[in-house]
Amino acid sequence: MSSVPIVRVALPTPLRRLFDYRAEPPGAAGAAIEPGMRVRVPFGRQRLIGVAAETAADSELPEERLKSVLERLDPQPIFDPATLALLGWAADYYHHPIGEVLAAALPKALRLGAPIESVTEHWVLTPAGGEAHARGEPRRGLRQRELLAALAQADAPGPGPTESTARAPGLSAAELDEKLASWRDAARALVARGWLVTVATPTAATAVPSFPAVIAGLAPEPNEEQRAAIGSVCESLGTFAGFVLHGVTGSGKTEVYLRIVERALRLGHSALVLVPEIGLTPQLVGRFRQRFPVPMAVLHSALTDHERLLAWREAFSGRARIVLGTRSAVFAPARDLGVIIVDEEHDASFKQHEGGFRYSARDLAVVRAQRADVPVVLGSATPALETLQNVTTGRYSRLVLSRRAADAVPPRLSLVDLRSTVVRAGISTPALQAIERHLAAGGQVLVFLNRRGYAPTLLCTACGWIAPCRDCDARLTVHRALARLRCHHCGADAALPERCPQCGFAVKTVGQGTERIEETLATLFPDVACIRLDRDVVRRRGDMEEAMRRMASGEARILVGTQMVTKGHDFPNVTLVVVLNADQGFFSTDFRAPERLAQTIVQVAGRAGRGQKAGEVLIQTEFPDHPLLRSLLAEGYDGFAREALTERRQAAWPPFSRLAAVRASAKTAEAALAFLAQARQAAEDLRTDRVAGGSDRRAAGRAVRLLGPAPAAMAKRAGRYHAQLLLESADRASLHRFLAAWLPVAESLQSGRRVRWALDVDPIDIF
Ligand code: ADP
Ligand code: ZN
Ligand code: ZN
Repeated sequence: MSSVPIVRVALPTPLRRLFDYRAEPPGAAGAAIEPGMRVRVPFGRQRLIGVAAETAADSELPEERLKSVLERLDPQPIFDPATLALLGWAADYYHHPIGEVLAAALPKALRLGAPIESVTEHWVLTPAGGEAHARGEPRRGLRQRELLAALAQADAPGPGPTESTARAPGLSAAELDEKLASWRDAARALVARGWLVTVATPTAATAVPSFPAVIAGLAPEPNEEQRAAIGSVCESLGTFAGFVLHGVTGSGKTEVYLRIVERALRLGHSALVLVPEIGLTPQLVGRFRQRFPVPMAVLHSALTDHERLLAWREAFSGRARIVLGTRSAVFAPARDLGVIIVDEEHDASFKQHEGGFRYSARDLAVVRAQRADVPVVLGSATPALETLQNVTTGRYSRLVLSRRAADAVPPRLSLVDLRSTVVRAGISTPALQAIERHLAAGGQVLVFLNRRGYAPTLLCTACGWIAPCRDCDARLTVHRALARLRCHHCGADAALPERCPQCGFAVKTVGQGTERIEETLATLFPDVACIRLDRDVVRRRGDMEEAMRRMASGEARILVGTQMVTKGHDFPNVTLVVVLNADQGFFSTDFRAPERLAQTIVQVAGRAGRGQKAGEVLIQTEFPDHPLLRSLLAEGYDGFAREALTERRQAAWPPFSRLAAVRASAKTAEAALAFLAQARQAAEDLRTDRVAGGSDRRAAGRAVRLLGPAPAAMAKRAGRYHAQLLLESADRASLHRFLAAWLPVAESLQSGRRVRWALDVDPIDIF
């Protein structure tokens, strides 16, 4: 046992533990290392940057084996205690190593050691340098002598009036540039002799702005429902409370967020706003900027590492009063946090489903709000079934906006039975007639198809060859304008052949993608400008805005698009929405597929008739009698949700049970499945008496059902075979006790195998 002060450091390694180091020498001038500060430590033969998670009086390790911290990087904790606690909770809940969780919560630049504040480098004389200057050294090297003299003069206590204010020691690069030409070589030489050091000093911090008035005249007067919602949340400022803001598209949810944020800002708090994808929601960002003339930190995936660092610093310093960002912004620093808002809370992109640390930003936002004692608002026109169940159990309160804000009329939904109508290039006769009618009446039309490209299949009618992806269990999609074949799963790309590579016969395209629908509509309506919105055409920032502009000006009258068109845009003059294929949701093995389908239909339908004109929505389907589709049409999303939750309860799927998925992949299907079979065996051993363990653990084990292993629906992806094992339990605590016991065993299985695997707690894709 050691008795020197110890710091327990979370390091970015897959090991599920903290590492003990001597807290000395504590870097800058005897300052202590506090939890939440970054430190550089020796780790094997490497030096790693980690975060001090705890301090302790002593260590289990014998004193002689303890290494010392090399350097303390932060003058103050980079994570405050509440955020550190949140991340600790997340590491436990998602069963992920704490060091990797903390690393995931920081921008890359900070992981690599960038300072938390922007700093200016100063060159400062060392005592030895001062003595050398006094002796008139170095004899040879005029530039070096000049540099020493300049620095000695800068540090001399002079009579000038500026000396009364505290200033950084030495001179900055800018100051040296003014005094001396090409001083850098000389500085390097003097640093090498130990006469000069560089010191990073925080750049003078700009004052935190007080809250100025909101820009008046822009905000509409809230209607009665909006007032009730705003009132409920504002009453809870200062304590934790969970709210679901369930408002149909266009009902004024954003206006409610803005009012709540305004109140929080007036009380001196900051606000954290999470959105699914910034690139797709420029309107929301724009509305926040327009309403509040306060610094805002915007964090999203399209930022460079440096931009991300700058945005993080804005939030950390407290200058930014609003932090708005995508998934990982849930970990962003926010001074005096007053409220958290999660817009489009049902959106799947809030769940990190790749890499090691797979977390739900929506769920963590609720935990963060709890820890910070602030209200959290989950807003959506189509709340996740889990979220609605949390309303039923009383965990959240529901705030309803039932009407469209600007007195717009809700759209009329109806089905088109694809089995009993003529379908031409994917468009049925009733749909075609409706498009004609709406165009003739001066309306705009939105055609939705969740498949980009020209056609999903390239086929040879002579020999039956279908262009396959070599690395996936998937077909290559035809991109005609580009004359390429592309895999939408792995990105594989090939030239579009004119003849069958197998028999030389001419090939043909089968099925429709947005590119082909655009072509068809252009042929059918040659006088009407049609634009397309999907990931193939929207590549740069601004492409989206340009499309919006053309629709808004009426220059374009038909919009064909994928999921992209369902996100938060206003098309006030769109009076008809056609959903070309609603059926993907019914073929999936994923129990969540119908929920996603219903959400997509409701979201895309919400694009119709946002102005004063009534909208019409046509949904093409081969399953017009499907009960979930029926309830969606007859009773709207609430009716659908009720039905779907009943099915979930009967099948014991979430939210009526808890799931974890073990996902494995390998170069062969056998290897992936064999690993999962072993993992399952280990789990079964844990459940029986064969493994020593408390009776608690056995009881927990019995409450856990094991499903699989089974190959993924699309087993081969990007050259690897994927499979999964599901662990399911009626109660969360049992599942987590079980996972905690099982994981170390599973980790010991992996050694020497070429299998990659990861645990996904609360998975949202079940394949
Ligand atoms: P949502 O976020 O629910 O889709 P928005 O907040 O974008 O709804 O509101 C839709 C439109 O209605 C916007 O143009 C908005 O400015 C307007 N709006 C919102 N609240 C009101 C209100 N109380 N009175 C008039 N217009 C409103
Ligand atoms: Zn052929
Ligand atoms: Zn592929």
